Amino acid sequence: MTSTSTYDAIIVGSGPNGLAAAIRLQQAGLRTLVLEQAATAGGATRTEELTLPGFRHDVGSAIHPLAFASPFLRTLPLEQHGLEWVFPEIPFAHALPGGKARMCYRDIERTASQLGVDHKRYSQLMNRLTRQWEDIEDTLLGPLSVPSNPFSLLNFGLQAILPADRFNKWNFREPETRALFMGAAAHAIMPLTWWGTASFGMVLTLLAHKTGWPFPKGGAGRLTAAMADFYRSSGGEIRLETKVSDLERLPDTRTILLDMTPEQLLHLKNSGLSTGYRRQLERYKYGAGVCKVDWALREPVPFTHPDLRRAGTIHFGDSARAIVEAEAGVFSGKTSPTPYVLFAQHSVFDESRAPEGNHTAWAYCHVPLNSDLDQSGQIEDQIEKAAPGFRDVVLSRSVKTTKLMEEWNPNLVGGDINGGRQDLTQLFTRPVRKLKPYRTSRANLYICSSSTPPGGGVHGMCGYHAAKTVLKDHFN
Ligand SMILES: Cc1cc2nc3c(=O)[nH]c(=O)nc-3n(C[C@H](O)[C@H](O)[C@H](O)COP(=O)(O)OP(=O)(O)OC[C@H]3O[C@@H](n4cnc5c(N)ncnc54)[C@H](O)[C@@H]3O)c2cc1C
Repeated sequence: MTSTSTYDAIIVGSGPNGLAAAIRLQQAGLRTLVLEQAATAGGATRTEELTLPGFRHDVGSAIHPLAFASPFLRTLPLEQHGLEWVFPEIPFAHALPGGKARMCYRDIERTASQLGVDHKRYSQLMNRLTRQWEDIEDTLLGPLSVPSNPFSLLNFGLQAILPADRFNKWNFREPETRALFMGAAAHAIMPLTWWGTASFGMVLTLLAHKTGWPFPKGGAGRLTAAMADFYRSSGGEIRLETKVSDLERLPDTRTILLDMTPEQLLHLKNSGLSTGYRRQLERYKYGAGVCKVDWALREPVPFTHPDLRRAGTIHFGDSARAIVEAEAGVFSGKTSPTPYVLFAQHSVFDESRAPEGNHTAWAYCHVPLNSDLDQSGQIEDQIEKAAPGFRDVVLSRSVKTTKLMEEWNPNLVGGDINGGRQDLTQLFTRPVRKLKPYRTSRANLYICSSSTPPGGGVHGMCGYHAAKTVLKDHFN
């Protein structure tokens, strides 16, 4: 382990995965440095006053079941570094036409009891999935590997491999149950007729029951701030406002980990990547973009259905069929007048988000990759259906189209928030088909972003697995 290099590892990018990698390497006793182009660490998990003074908005990620449940992050003493979790009473809900709604409560039975003829099926399915999760989470939250519990994985996989719309037809009869499940599955950001999209709905719904859908008090940025603080307190170093464009200009180091996506790797100078590897990166597929809106509100959102006022996250989309059509349209270059919308209302549960009596709201819808269309009008129309008068309580709004998203964080290529499409060809073998896809073609250069398994979302597992690979390859 002795070396004359100044650093053992330099990590470029301080998103949740860059920080997770840096923490893991620092824990192993390495000398590490994080370089970040932005003025604040945290990547797409940062909080800013985007609208009016005192209104704290999550510019990127907002709801964090994956972070709370992350096998790596939950081992870190982040609470000692300022992290406090807030658990909305109802993890998520689906707003339906005519003032109706269905809730995903923490309690499986209570959720099932609203689902008519699907009561028994929902209850059986979710009880089984929540039991299986502990057996399979390590396999699902990493690169391809030999499963420790193949029977549980097979059982889970037989349903998870299905397209979300087929999963719905096989399991549920009530249109409202199908809409509730489809709202969770559509986090996949893919056509919901594609194989494997059911897995997103299954994992997110089982986590709603198992852990809830919590978020950090004070803003998502408190999570990454706690990670950065813990990292620094363990001896790590972060240099902000330091954009890396040429790897030869880095300080002297044994290894480099890039919290970047393939498109950015291809533009790095002196990366030393082989022509064959570059060709594989050029074939990497991005998914869709997002149009994101944040609101400063005079008062809470005036939802007609009282339970919608008690849900942290609400999905809008008139029916499962309407969501399937809207999401398919996004992948054929079209936007929908009635898009599927993901919406969160933090300030109802966390008063530190807005001045006293005021509120914030956060939402986005999916748009074609690179489409710079402002969909805020369509998003607000969807909210108005469940909360007539919503626009009247808006004090100010901030809209970020795909272009503004990418300007804010270069990893959001074309507005893609997952670091690349998460279809079956890229889910476990991203960005290239290798058992350890964190390795590039250059022996000391690694990729640790959400463009590696297990993909998008705030969980730090990409960074954790990349760091483990670096330790095995160079510091054994
Ligand atoms: C609008 C939006 C909503 C989301 N909602 C959720 C959600 O609710 N829940 C959830 O779990 N996930 C959500 N996500 C996804 C989640 O935020 C990402 O999957 C996660 O942040 C990926 O982490 P990362 O470390 O791989 O990359 P990032 O968080 O993107 O971090 C990459 C970092 O690298 C830096 N960087 C890039 N290039 C360079 C360079 N050349 N030099 C120096 N630094 C560089 C960037 O500035 C950035 O700080 C959302 C994302 C967005 C944008």
